[in-house]
Amino acid sequence: MKVIWAPWRMEYILSDQKGGECFFCPGEDRGEDETRLILYFGSLSVVLMNRFPYVNGHLLVAPVRHVPGLEFLSPDEMLDLLMMVSRSIKVLKEVMGPEGFNVGVNLGKVAGAGVEDHLHFHVVPRWNGDTNYMTVLGEVRVIPEHIMVTYRELLPYFQDFKLGPGGDR
Ligand SMILES: [Zn+2]
Repeated sequence: MKVIWAPWRMEYILSDQKGGECFFCPGEDRGEDETRLILYFGSLSVVLMNRFPYVNGHLLVAPVRHVPGLEFLSPDEMLDLLMMVSRSIKVLKEVMGPEGFNVGVNLGKVAGAGVEDHLHFHVVPRWNGDTNYMTVLGEVRVIPEHIMVTYRELLPYFQDFKLGPGGDR
């Protein structure tokens, strides 16, 4: 039987950030969005690609505010966060055609959270027979080219979304 929550075990790598800065708090400078793999930065939520993905297309969705759990979110933030999870699934379906998804959140180190003080959802597209090809590359510190290709493929779908609420929400 397959361990379907295996994607989460890779998360510790996220915490290996230089200078202790938060992976999900990139600051005001939007000029580095591409190197940070940020697909969407709204007023309440942020969507980025996991640079050490379980599979290509592994996205992370977080509130803009640096909070450790769902209970710290306002209703507006909660709504926006879940809408961006939904939006991410929709975009991945359209662009990558996965056969299923794992969507989840780790709360606390014991549950596998690599970044435990900034809440985030994992959105992991799944295909029949996919494998965790990144496991053996756990020490790799470079972004594989195919992740950048996927980033540029996905980006327009999230740029369109910046046109405002209403449209395809
Ligand atoms: Zn943060």
